[in-house]
Amino acid sequence: MECATIKTGGGTAAGVLEQKPLIIILLGPPGAGKGTHAPALSQKLGLPHISTGDLFREHIREQSPLGQCAQDYINRGKLVPDDLVLAMLFERLQKNDCQRGCILDGFPRTLPQANALNERLGNTAQFAALNLDTPDHLIIERIAGRIVCQGCKKPYHTTFNKPRNPGQCDDCSGILITRPDDQSSVVKQRLEVYRLETKPLIDYYAQQPGVLAQINGQNTKEQVLSDLLESIPSENKFSSK
Ligand code: AMP
Repeated sequence: MECATIKTGGGTAAGVLEQKPLIIILLGPPGAGKGTHAPALSQKLGLPHISTGDLFREHIREQSPLGQCAQDYINRGKLVPDDLVLAMLFERLQKNDCQRGCILDGFPRTLPQANALNERLGNTAQFAALNLDTPDHLIIERIAGRIVCQGCKKPYHTTFNKPRNPGQCDDCSGILITRPDDQSSVVKQRLEVYRLETKPLIDYYAQQPGVLAQINGQNTKEQVLSDLLESIPSENKFSSK
């Protein structure tokens, strides 16, 4: 089938607010811990967690035209074309829950995506790009044992973060599966794509004063979460709880 660009309205995530919406961008290779820490950050900051990978997997499950289009790219470890990603993401950003900002997990992944986000939100938002700096050996180890809940998407690891009952999510009792693109042949391709297309975004955000923070992704889960929270501009440390 032909993958047509999806048309969306022209709104932005920015509402009429005194404080600019905070767009947290989680950077880092597959397996760096973006999907692990984003839900905790989301809860602490009261901002929605938006994972473009999860949005695509939802479309694939529903077999929507976008899902059918994206499936082949994802299964081969390739990036979905920018125009499809941007249309899907910008549509999501228009929802009311993004008025105070959001946590982006897996977006942007290319320089054109980062530029499009900047152009779209421009001066209306505040950006914080948090890079989970994680060495290759750890990434491969983490992805090799990664299992995720089919229902609520919570990630587990067969060795380091086991569910209470094998194969079952602690939170929602959903079935735990290995993502098709976590198979080793596909992971190699995804890491290569990361190096070529996504890693340059670290320099991109480093050039924007006060936007980039480097987080040591080798630390414990608790330490990484604490470092992530520490690196968020202080005026945004409101809590939803
Ligand atoms: P993730 O769950 O973030 O690892 O994403 C899974 C797959 O979805 C990626 O390997 C890509 O094929 C696709 N994908 C997710 N986000 C993007 C993006 N921002 N740009 C292009 N492809 C993406």
